[in-house]
Amino acid sequence: MKSLDLDVFLCRTDNFGVLVHDPETNLTASIDAPDADAVIKAAERRGWTITHIFTTHHHTDHVEGNLALKEKYDCEIIGPINEAVAIPGLDKTMADGDSFEFGEHTVNVIETPGHTAGHICYHFVDDKVLFAADTLFALGCGRLFERSAADMWHSLQKLAVLPDETAIYFGHEYTLSNARFALTIDPDNERLKSRAADIEAMRAEGKFTIPTTLAMEKETNPFLRAADPSIRRNLLMESRTNEEVFAEIRKRKDNF
Ligand code: ZN
Ligand code: FE
Repeated sequence: MKSLDLDVFLCRTDNFGVLVHDPETNLTASIDAPDADAVIKAAERRGWTITHIFTTHHHTDHVEGNLALKEKYDCEIIGPINEAVAIPGLDKTMADGDSFEFGEHTVNVIETPGHTAGHICYHFVDDKVLFAADTLFALGCGRLFERSAADMWHSLQKLAVLPDETAIYFGHEYTLSNARFALTIDPDNERLKSRAADIEAMRAEGKFTIPTTLAMEKETNPFLRAADPSIRRNLLMESRTNEEVFAEIRKRKDNF
């Protein structure tokens, strides 16, 4: 099995577009469709034809290009069963635990309610690649629009058990502001401090911070670290539940 080719580009304001191309079958999936023109431009630059769209959730900045891409490529649109009515052009629905083949690559679907009620992530198992969209960001997590903090915490735990070396592609370049916030929650974390300095430098040079790895997020992302003793001490929440600590961190980020 040959490895997948990925093309990552920024579009709209801070959305990441990602094309996933299987060189053996020539299949190409667009992870979400934030902007049809940007997706088409990226595909044409590579000489790829879009055959699929893998939708993560119903927000406009993830589905706005669906119909225009379908019109141009007649591609198949796959998306979350719990948001099916809100996703333009949807052909096939996926629920938690479903899996399907993309060429010879197995894709597992992981439902991660929190940011929206039906958000799904796509895990390319053998490739060790996760498309987490607006559930898990580098040093951050999605805002809670449709589900509770406890729901989001449990969703994040489903991602946290994947292999440490998993490469994580996320939906937005929010990493610099996430890093500055993370330092307020976990100021003594040496790995976080050095990562935050790297991110400041990368963004100053206009570089993207995508992808990250699960190992890196587990060590530095406060939203995965509600159980960490020094974070709990900092927040004066040593006797509270992980869900409560996570909810407090999320609330502080909303007001940051
Ligand atoms: Zn969203
Ligand atoms: Fe988004």
